[in-house]
Amino acid sequence: MNLIIMGAPGAGKGTQAELIAARENIPAISTGQILRDAMKAGTELGNVAKSYVESGGLVPDEIVIGIVRDYLVSDACKNGFILDGFPRSIAQAQALEDMGVKIDAVLSIEVDDARIVKRMSGRRVCECGASYHVDYNPPAVADVCDKCGKALYIRKDDKAETVINRLETYHSQTEPLLDFYRERGLLVAVEGQEKVEDTTELVREALSKIDK
Ligand code: AMP
Repeated sequence: MNLIIMGAPGAGKGTQAELIAARENIPAISTGQILRDAMKAGTELGNVAKSYVESGGLVPDEIVIGIVRDYLVSDACKNGFILDGFPRSIAQAQALEDMGVKIDAVLSIEVDDARIVKRMSGRRVCECGASYHVDYNPPAVADVCDKCGKALYIRKDDKAETVINRLETYHSQTEPLLDFYRERGLLVAVEGQEKVEDTTELVREALSKIDK
């Protein structure tokens, strides 16, 4: 299955991407996580990305398109993949089409802005990529990652003023993609629920209906 997951920041796309990836045994490619890893490692990519990520804007298209192209041609993606956080602009979606990669479905997880702001304040993440919420998806031990045991932290771009910018960026640059994919008959929308497992159930149901 070749799947794209879309949704506003904090809608739960990363969490659902990881769950589907484990179930289907295919990789989830999170451009946000790749950029954060590069920032942490202080690579050239990380240094370029930093100001865009920390202000809540988009990293320039040509940079992320290059990252995704490299992944999609790799062996890891030969049985399918999930793109989490890419494409985020019409230019990126067009570049993906130009790569000639067949997409089976585009899953949009829909959550309104008021709920997004509330959710973001409770989000805790781990450097291994796992994501939690203090109320809706808490780890077994407070502030400790279930998967790798490291300490959880609050993402720098989850602070309130950056969240507002990220939402604006989503509405102005990414939301137009919903029509782009609806026109291609690929869009599948699911309403994000408060509990992760409830969203997972809706996602599972929606994906069971698509042709692979
Ligand atoms: P995410 O983890 O998906 O919320 O992404 C975190 C941040 O990384 C975003 O707010 C952007 O600054 C940047 N980013 C991630 N994916 C992309 C993309 N496809 N295009 C441009 N910037 C991106």
